[in-house]
Amino acid sequence: MPKQVTRNIQFKSQKHQHITQAKMLVQIYNEKEQKLRAIKTLLLFWLIAAVCVLIPIAHFLLVPGFFIVGIIKAIKLWSKAEDGLTAEGECPVCHNQISFNLEKSVELPQWRDCPECAESLELNA
Ligand SMILES: [Zn+2]
Repeated sequence: MPKQVTRNIQFKSQKHQHITQAKMLVQIYNEKEQKLRAIKTLLLFWLIAAVCVLIPIAHFLLVPGFFIVGIIKAIKLWSKAEDGLTAEGECPVCHNQISFNLEKSVELPQWRDCPECAESLELNA
């Protein structure tokens, strides 16, 4: 099972330059889980490509498209050991507790809008 760790990050307001401490939840994969995940993704895209063979005319675009996208996605996942899950903390502007879905992106900095006051926030280490 992939394990989850919490990292300390900061929320920084772009306009006011205020900073608050926040936590980022990260999912970590070992080498075997990484490879397995890449292979599963590749097979899923190739399955979709195979199903698209049945769609007239569009299959000229869809089949090679999914075939190639599957390879690209698998190559990216093959060496990706971490997924960013969520970031939680206090907004430096409105001081509400806020949480972001990081959509598997673990690289910092990232930019998000506060769901409470719509202020643009920088997520940084
Ligand atoms: Zn806010």
